This record gives sequence, structure tokens and C-alpha cells, in this order.
Amino acid sequence: MQFGEIYGNDALKARLKKMVDEDRLSHAILFVEQEGMGGLAFAIALAQYINCTDRGQDSCGECPSCRRIAKLAYPDVHFAFPVNTSPKLSDQEKKKPLSSYFLSDWNNLVAANPYFDSHELYEALGIENKAATISVHEAREIASALALQPFESDYKIMIIWQPEKMNTEAANKLLKLLEEPPAGTYFLMVTQSLESMLTTVRSRCQIIRLQPMEREEIADVLCKRYELERPLALDFATLAGGSIGKAFSLVENADSGSMLDDLLRQLLDASLGKSLPGVLDAADALAALGKDKQKQWCVRSEGFIRKMFLSAKGLEGISFAGADDLQYIKKQVPRIKDSFYPRAAAALDAALRLIDSNVSAKLIFTDLGNRFYLYI
Ligand SMILES: [Zn+2]
Repeated sequence: MQFGEIYGNDALKARLKKMVDEDRLSHAILFVEQEGMGGLAFAIALAQYINCTDRGQDSCGECPSCRRIAKLAYPDVHFAFPVNTSPKLSDQEKKKPLSSYFLSDWNNLVAANPYFDSHELYEALGIENKAATISVHEAREIASALALQPFESDYKIMIIWQPEKMNTEAANKLLKLLEEPPAGTYFLMVTQSLESMLTTVRSRCQIIRLQPMEREEIADVLCKRYELERPLALDFATLAGGSIGKAFSLVENADSGSMLDDLLRQLLDASLGKSLPGVLDAADALAALGKDKQKQWCVRSEGFIRKMFLSAKGLEGISFAGADDLQYIKKQVPRIKDSFYPRAAAALDAALRLIDSNVSAKLIFTDLGNRFYLYI
């Protein structure tokens, strides 16, 4: 990956290149970002720039090391990230899971989208909902990989994603290396949670913060990449809060999001039309979703109800509603009682709490539908 391929943070690109050119790059760098801002892309581009044999304004992208780093297949650039047991591992591997067992999944994910978030990584590794860690076994692997002479170049680079998932034992194993790394060794770490990092580790790093991208800048990228109309791209960019990775994931998951929003509109329309069969149809459709989708629906719907409430109070400017939502809201709000909004939000909260209990989904959503029908 070249710096030129990364979205945003242009000043940082220039700063990093200058540090390498002037041979004053710290041996332990900690990129601090919010999920999806490109910290990992920066670490890879920096590794490529350090190793490139024909550097210009950027790494050349053509020399053998550039080509192999771009393919994530360079023996002197290593990756470590939090893992746990996964059905993908053999019984033997499950005893001490290591990043290296997951490398092909990791490489595929990074190649497809280096702006992924934790959820996307853990899903790719098959370790969803388990607490992933960087264990002392992993720390031992890191130390032994760095103890070898470089194979192909003068540098050895260890890219660590989410070093905050390192436990104290693992960190202690690495402290000496971080403090006095062997010549030509660089640690490039990427965290989304500086405050949960062990102070012993973070105090040994040079901290580099990524900045959120401007909304307009994100919208430009979305228009090109997905051929979106600009107003829609701006809506996604607003929701992304400066994270290009979040914007990508919002666009790519928009289908399932809009399916959920459609169900809310169906429920609201049937309630307003005093159509009990329509309300029950929407409730049945909701009861048929998986629990995760049901919870997502409750949360999204609460957000939507809040937007309606703000619009009812004449505050649509701060509701961050997209153009399409706003059109719907403006049409329906005059028909809805003011008391509906807090009562609907409370009913959604109650449903959200019940989804994980033993109450049947059909009962939860029929009751919720009934409340919408009565309150509206
Ligand atoms: Zn090169």
C-alpha cells in the first residue's frame, strides 16, 4: 500500500515520509484512531515506504519489496492482532491460539478493506463474541520473530493491531524490546483505545493521532466509489462521524439497514391508518428476524423516533435526518400526538431488554405493535 492510496490525513503522510527520509522515525510508533480511520493502512504504507528501494514522493509500488508488502507477503513485515479460539483452528492450535494461525483470513480482510472495524475482523476470524487477547504466547512469537536477522532487507517491522488487548504478562515480555529494539526494528501499533492501553507500553511509544476526515471529503470518496448521488453520500458521511471505514460499512450495509427502517415505517403507517392487521403483519415480520437484527431494529427505531420528535419541535436542523427520512418525517409528524414519542421510545427500550430473555419474540413485538397503535 502506498500513502497515496490512503484516504485523508495528508499532512500526516508528509510528516511520516519526512521522518523516514531524515532517519528520525521512532522505533515504536503508536497510531491512535477511531475505528475505520485508516491506522492500519498507515502502518502498512509506512512499512512499505521504509523498505522501498526506489523511494520518491511515495514508495515506488514497483520494486520487489513494495510488491510483496502490498500483497502482505513480505517475510520481514509481521502482523500480530488479538485472537481467541475459533472453529477454524485444529485442536492443537486451540490450546494456544496465535495470530499466525489466522494469517490468510487476516490478509484477505486487509486486502479487501484495510479500514475494517473490530467486529468485521472477529467475524472474519470466526471468533465473534469472544474476548480476543494478545497473549504471552503471542508475545513470545513476536520476540522470536524479531530476534532473527531480516531475510530480505535491513529492517524488521512488527505491526500490532489493538495493542490494548495485550495483557500485563504479554506486555512485560515485550517491554525490553520496545525500549531497546534491535537495530532496524520498528514496532508500528494501531489502537482505537489509548486509555485502555497499559501505561508501560504506551509510554515507550511515539504517539501519532489520526484526524477525522471532513464530511465533504468523505462524501467525495463515496460518490466516486459507489457512484452515489451527492445528497445521499452526504447523509452517509454525516453518520460516519469522520471515519471513512464507517462510511464504507454504512453504505455496504444500507440494504439491511433500509430493510429495518422499512419495517418501522410499515408499523408507523399501519398505526396511523388504524389498521390492526397491518400492525400485526409488521409485528410478525419483526418476530421472524434474528435476535441481533431485532436489537438493531429497536436501536435504529429509537433513533428515528428521536428525529421525529425533534422535527415535531421544529428542530429538524439538529436531527441529522437524511433527505429521504426528512421527507417521510415531515409528512407524518403533523398526524402524531406529542405524547407518542416518549412512550414509543420507552416501549422500544422495554422490547430491547426483553429480546435476550425467554419471552417469545412474537409476544414482544405484538405487544410493541399494539402500543404504537394505541399511543400514536
Ligand atoms: Zn518500492
